[in-house]
Amino acid sequence: MGWLIARFLAALLVVVGGVLGGYLLGQLTHMPAGSLVLGALVGVFGAVLLDLRHGQRLMEWLRGAQEHEAPRETGFWGELGYRMERTLRVRDAALEQERLRLQQFLSAIDASPNGVLMLDAVGAIEWCNVVAAAHFELDPRRDRRQRITNLVRAPAFVAHLQAGRYDEPVIFPGPQGRTLLSVLVRPYGDGMKLVLSQDITERERTDAMRRDFVANVSHEIRTPLTVLSGFLETLAMLPLSEVERQRVLTLMQQQATRMQALVGDLLTLAQLEGSPRPGADRWVAVGATLRQAHADAMALSAGRHVIELAGSDEAELAGSEPELLSAFGNLLNNAVRYTPAGGRIRLQWRWREDGGAEVEVSDSGPGIAREHIPRLTERFYRVDGSRSRDTGGTGLGLSIVKHVVQRHGGEIDIRSEPGQGSSFRLVFPSYRVRRRPVAAPETEPVALARQ
Ligand code: ADP
Repeated sequence: MGWLIARFLAALLVVVGGVLGGYLLGQLTHMPAGSLVLGALVGVFGAVLLDLRHGQRLMEWLRGAQEHEAPRETGFWGELGYRMERTLRVRDAALEQERLRLQQFLSAIDASPNGVLMLDAVGAIEWCNVVAAAHFELDPRRDRRQRITNLVRAPAFVAHLQAGRYDEPVIFPGPQGRTLLSVLVRPYGDGMKLVLSQDITERERTDAMRRDFVANVSHEIRTPLTVLSGFLETLAMLPLSEVERQRVLTLMQQQATRMQALVGDLLTLAQLEGSPRPGADRWVAVGATLRQAHADAMALSAGRHVIELAGSDEAELAGSEPELLSAFGNLLNNAVRYTPAGGRIRLQWRWREDGGAEVEVSDSGPGIAREHIPRLTERFYRVDGSRSRDTGGTGLGLSIVKHVVQRHGGEIDIRSEPGQGSSFRLVFPSYRVRRRPVAAPETEPVALARQ
């Protein structure tokens, strides 16, 4: 209320001043009434003029960006300016807070692993996060306000948007056909839509791999089973001589062994996939493990090959001994099975310059054509199916080796050329290998190698 009294007094002062001036002028000019009116008018005019000046300064401040303080007047105009400024500042702070909150909210959606896209009532893009921009190959700035169907033309997506039934996600290839997208549309607000996209390329690939795997396993098991049941029928129906009976039993034995090997390898794979990575704190004596693998290979070769071992007695490898033995055993098993009699096989431990180490199994066998090499570690991939099966192969050996080496932080490096033999290297990183610090007792390796 103070400003009201001050304002009233100021106006009164100016008018009284005008009247007083008019009165004095009336004394001088002997026209008292006229001078009083004139003085009062001048007073009122002066008061209005002062108000106009104050109002104009406040208006100028309001028209500007209000970066500085409002004009600091006294009385009414000062109070008005101060209150306006305070209201504006409070509103600015609230707006800034809202802006920050919105920014945080959008950043959170931006960080989502899924694509998020907002469409207005006519299907134009309101906003999209970086993942959605990547999925649909959009430019979030340039494509704003553009209709989504003008930019994403996949027929399945367009039809899904137009159909207006959004219970199920729609699956379609991404813009360049390199990815597979699963898109879920959720209506919200007044005809607006939230489009959630997910790249399911990898998921589809693993699903397809799983389907292939089941089909392959079924096929691999069905073949020896069919042979076995055929032989059983023969034994039951036909009167066979002792020689024939023995031959049939031997063939049945072979098929049963093949199934056993297959089931054994499948169990090993399942075990590798289902168990946690071997810790990097359990140190395996490499020399003993290599010697065990070498002895197994010698037994399998039965003197048909020269098998050399160049180990390293002071080397230790952090991980699981049964798994490592299985990996070395599988490589040697292959070398023995694919290298013709009289060939040479070498099992070697080698330190690498980067501080890591490698185990190499090389042979003087038939070698492998370049185009097969990248696929050798795929499950059931064989270069020569009948040769693999005839020698008791399951098609899973190298897949097991790859799993084992990856679980130990390493990788498999295969080099081969037809007629030049093959070399399989298991390369382990430096943190998994060390020279034995003190003479530790060597433990007997536990057998997990293929039979
Ligand atoms: P398999 O049980 O058939 O041997 P693997 O996964 O161990 O299955 O090997 C995959 C394929 O790689 C084999 O079928 C074979 O064609 C090829 N291969 C593996 N090791 C050798 C080798 N030492 N020499 C030649 N070919 C090999």
